[in-house]
Amino acid sequence: MFGIYAPGHEVSRLSYFALYALQHRGQESAGIAAADRGGHIITRRELGLVSQVFTENDLHTLAGELAIGHVRYSTTGSNAWENSQPVQRSAGRNGTSRELALAHNGNLINAVELHDELSERGVTFSSTSDSEIVAALIATHPAERIEDAIADVLPRLRGAFSIVVMTKDRVVAFRDPHGLRPLALGVLKPTEPGGEVRHCVASESCALDIIGATHLRDVQPGEVVTLSEEGVQSRVVTPDARKAFCVFEYIYFARPDSRMHGQVLQVARGRMGEILWREAPVEADLVIAVPDSGNAAARGLARASGIPQDDGFVKNRYVARTFIQPGQELRKHGLRLKFNPLPEVIAGKRLVVVDDSIVRGNTTRQIVQMLRDAGASEVHMRISAPPIKHPCHYGIDMSTREEMIAHGRTTDEVAEELGCDSLHYLSLEGVYEAVGATRATHCDACFTGQYPLDRTGEAGGKYALEGGAVGREADEPGSSSAQSGESQALPLVRA
Ligand code: AMP
Repeated sequence: MFGIYAPGHEVSRLSYFALYALQHRGQESAGIAAADRGGHIITRRELGLVSQVFTENDLHTLAGELAIGHVRYSTTGSNAWENSQPVQRSAGRNGTSRELALAHNGNLINAVELHDELSERGVTFSSTSDSEIVAALIATHPAERIEDAIADVLPRLRGAFSIVVMTKDRVVAFRDPHGLRPLALGVLKPTEPGGEVRHCVASESCALDIIGATHLRDVQPGEVVTLSEEGVQSRVVTPDARKAFCVFEYIYFARPDSRMHGQVLQVARGRMGEILWREAPVEADLVIAVPDSGNAAARGLARASGIPQDDGFVKNRYVARTFIQPGQELRKHGLRLKFNPLPEVIAGKRLVVVDDSIVRGNTTRQIVQMLRDAGASEVHMRISAPPIKHPCHYGIDMSTREEMIAHGRTTDEVAEELGCDSLHYLSLEGVYEAVGATRATHCDACFTGQYPLDRTGEAGGKYALEGGAVGREADEPGSSSAQSGESQALPLVRA
C-alpha cells in the first residue's frame, strides 16, 4: 500500500515503483488511483502482478499530483476483480458530493456488523471485501472535512487496518489503534533546489528507499496523517489502546531490507538464526537455507555455529502464487518446480536446513524428501518461528487450525511427520530477543492463541461478505482458498 502527495513529481510512476517494491505483500491484484487537484480521481486496477497490470500508457493516463496504490493478498473476500483496490466511491452529502479512493492493508473483524448497518441505510456494495465498507463509511459521513470523518469512523473499525484515502486534493493515511500492520511515512527530496518538500506513506520502508524517499518515522497506532499542500498534519485519535504489532512481519512477511520499529529485518532475522543455534546446536557438516525465506536466518546460524554454509537449492524466481497448476505428471514432483536441489553440494552431508516457518508442513516435508533423494545423510530442520497453531484474524492468510501441522502435535511428532532427523522451532522468547521487543506491544496470536483484541461478537472468515457464506468461521476447514485443495502440492509462494 502506498500514498503520495507530490505536485511536481511523477506520482503514478513513483506509485508504480513503490508497488513493485511491495509486490511480496500481495500478488493477486494491483491498482493505482491518481488525481490532479480539482480534477477527477482515475483508478486503474486489475488482477495480476504489478508488472502485468500497468502499461506505460496507463501511467500517462494516471497523471496527477497525488496518488495511492495497492497490491492485494486476500484475507476478506475472494480473489476477484471486484475486490481489487484502490476502491473508488462517491456519495452525495449535504448537497455536495465526496469522491474518494481508498486502499487497505489488514483485516476487519467487525465487517459483517458494519456491512449490515450500512445496508440498512440503503448503501449498496459492488465487492465482498471489508475495504469497501470503510470507503462507504467515510464517503457517506456528514463531516465537512475528510479528516473529521475519518476520526469519527476510525474508532468504529475493529481489527487490523493501515489505510490510505485520497480525495481530489489530499492523501490521508491512518493506522488502527493497536498498530497491527505497518505504515511508514517518508519525505521526498525537492525536484529542484529550493523546491517544496513532499511526502508519501508506504506499508514498508523498502518502497520509500527505491523511490529515493527518506523514512521519516512510522505512522503511530491510532494516528491520522494528512499529506497536502500544507505539508504533513497529524492527530492521534485513539492513543490508549494496547499496542499489538504483528511479530510475523519481522519473521516472514516483510522484506528483509525494510526497517520496522528501528530494526532492519535482515539483521533481526540473522539474529534469529544465531539464537536458533544457541537453543538447539547439532553436529553437522553444512548449513543450507530454504531460499529465500530462510536466507538471513541461515547466515546467522552459520555465523554462530562456524559450520560452513552453501546453496543446497537453486530457486526458480518466477514461480508465483498465480502459477498455472501442474498436471498429474508434474504434481508428483511438487516443489521441484520452485526448488531444484544440488546433489553435488548435498550428497553424504549432515545438513542443518533453515526456513522461516512451517504452516501446513507441505513445503518442509517435500524439502526433506528432496534432500534425502539428493543423498543427504542427515537433515536437521531449524525454523526461525515458533510452531504456528492458530489462524490470524488480522491480515495474514495462515490457513486453518486443522490444516496446521503443529496443531495438536508435539515437536517430536511434527518431526516424525516431516521425516527429518531433528526439528527445532525458535522459542517465542528467542523471537523477541532477536527483534529487541516485548510481548506487551506485539501480537503473537498465531503462535500462542492469545488474540490481543476482544473477539466478542466477532463473526467473519474470508468469505463472510459473500452470498451463502455469511458468518462462516475463520477457522473452518477450507475457508482459505489460496492455501487449500489442489494447490497443496505447490508451495505457498511469496516472491
Ligand atoms: P507450508 O507448506 O504450509 O508449511 O508453508 C510454509 C512455507 O510457506 C514457508 O516456507 C513460509 O516461508 C511460507 N509461508 C509462511 N506463511 C505464509 C503465508 N501466510 N502466506 C504465504 N506463505 C507463507
